[in-house]
Amino acid sequence: MIRLVIAGIIVYVIYRLSRALFAPSERKVAGRASGAPPRIEGEDLVKDPCCGTYVPINSAHKAVVRGETVYFCSRECLEKYKKENS
Ligand SMILES: [Zn+2]
Repeated sequence: MIRLVIAGIIVYVIYRLSRALFAPSERKVAGRASGAPPRIEGEDLVKDPCCGTYVPINSAHKAVVRGETVYFCSRECLEKYKKENS
C-alpha cells in the first residue's frame, strides 16, 4: 500500500516537472497570440517632437537642443525643430 503511495507521488512529481518545463513556452505562445507588440532589443521607439512620428532609435536623427537629446524622423524635421527652438 505504501509502495502505491510512493509510486503516486513519483508520478505526480514527474507530472509537475513536465508542466514546469512546458508551461513557459505555452505562455510565450499565448502572449504572442494576444497581439502584444514584439520588443526588439535596440529598437526602442522615440517620438519626433516636430511631426509626432515614432522612430526606431537606431534610425532616428539625433540632435541636442537646449541641452536635451531629441530624435527626429528626418533631417528636415531636425532642422525645422532646431530653427524653432533656437
Ligand atoms: Zn518628423
